[in-house]
Amino acid sequence: MIDLEQIRRDVEACERGMNEEYYLNWSGQKDDLDTASVLDKCPSLGERETVDHISARRQIAEPEEERKLKYLHGVTVGFYLASLVKDLNDAKETEEAKLTIDVDGEEMAYRMSRVHMVNEDDRAKRHAIHDARIKASHGLNKILVERWGKLHNTAVDLGYNNYTMLYRNLKGINFTSLLNEIKEFKQRTDKLYREKMGEMTDSLGVSLEEAEKHDISHLLRAKQFDPHFKKGNSLPALKETLKGLGIDLDSQKNIIVDIEEREKKTPRAFCAPLDIPSKIMLVTMPQGGYSDYSSLFHEAGHAEHLGNVNPDEPMEFKYLGDNSVTESFAFTFDYLLTDRNWVNEFIKMPNVDEYIHHAFVEKLFFVRRYGSKLEYEMKLHTDGLPGMDQVYKSVMEDGMVFKHPRERYLLDLDDGFYCSQYLRAWIFHAQMIDLMKEKFGEKWFLNTKSGNYLTDLWSVGQKYDVVELAQNEGFQGLDIEPLTEEIIANLE
Ligand SMILES: [Zn+2]
Repeated sequence: MIDLEQIRRDVEACERGMNEEYYLNWSGQKDDLDTASVLDKCPSLGERETVDHISARRQIAEPEEERKLKYLHGVTVGFYLASLVKDLNDAKETEEAKLTIDVDGEEMAYRMSRVHMVNEDDRAKRHAIHDARIKASHGLNKILVERWGKLHNTAVDLGYNNYTMLYRNLKGINFTSLLNEIKEFKQRTDKLYREKMGEMTDSLGVSLEEAEKHDISHLLRAKQFDPHFKKGNSLPALKETLKGLGIDLDSQKNIIVDIEEREKKTPRAFCAPLDIPSKIMLVTMPQGGYSDYSSLFHEAGHAEHLGNVNPDEPMEFKYLGDNSVTESFAFTFDYLLTDRNWVNEFIKMPNVDEYIHHAFVEKLFFVRRYGSKLEYEMKLHTDGLPGMDQVYKSVMEDGMVFKHPRERYLLDLDDGFYCSQYLRAWIFHAQMIDLMKEKFGEKWFLNTKSGNYLTDLWSVGQKYDVVELAQNEGFQGLDIEPLTEEIIANLE
């Protein structure tokens, strides 16, 4: 007999166990990443019966119960799929961790080679690393082809036409209408994008059409602004910003900042909720540079959101729900880095115009990139794997113009249409910032009332999806106009 309360307890234990595995591995305290054994501890979550049971319960549930069951259905399908491919996941991680590449006689770890590539000023050398990475990815692709074949087949076994329809149902997101909105955004920004990105690639002596993926990663790295984003200042800048909102990070005992330097710690900041809301890890190893700051602020947005959830909310609203919501709060902090008023207050740099311009080119780049990814993923997860390497290349090049190697078609991909949740978060965060400026002034981040407003929104976790959240705040729903206008206004 299946016990719903037991499933809820298992889901919470599994979520927390997974987050702890990632925390220990990424923070450099544990060598291997063993998510398989976390799944093994909750065998009910790897069973088809559990998924079917929740699916059936959804049919007869009252609206408030259905809200929780929908989130529970999503997570149990996720765990079920994960359990079917857990050996392939581990095989891919293991293969990737031991993979090395040879660049003109110099041996490099595959995982670190990306960092070397992005930082390399010499275009020929950068190209050599890029080439070696592509050649080395053959084995990874073999594993991923098998993995995606299994996931696609399972979606059909579960009674859906394909993986796209499975996630359309689980996430309740109409991918087609989202894609249509993004296509319009891309059309409206097309000329601007080509012009601004073309100006950047000019500095390398190539046109945007001729530029390679590694050129773009290198240009977006924007080393020229490094002197203004010093290694030791990122955490103090975050604390000062939070103070402006009336939030004292040092006295928030449930948000633990892990700033310790460890040899194997991943340099990119991340947030690991070990227990919501009582133990949230905000992990960083400051490197300095613009993107190092923005990733710390992004993750701090997640940490504040999860650390301020009312402990009495049900497990489903604390751990599950629509991640477009938490990503919106993360972007709200992340994109302070593109706010001229904030920069003048906290960074103070002489070439602020040049910097803001760069930051908005990057924002435009990312929204278009995720829009192109959504278009590609809909094709991949509807039509299946054969020929998709070419489709990846043509869809990405159509949207982004510069070259995309077809060999990246399964490596440049997240599970479960996560790209759609980033896109909804980009759309909503721009609406929310407009609203906060209207309510609390252009310098909303210096007003403790903004802090109270956000804390209030944070307290329900992810009870509401992002569309409901927008409606609760007086909008008709999601509206891409503020995002489009903001980008155009800052680049024209
Ligand atoms: Zn995020």
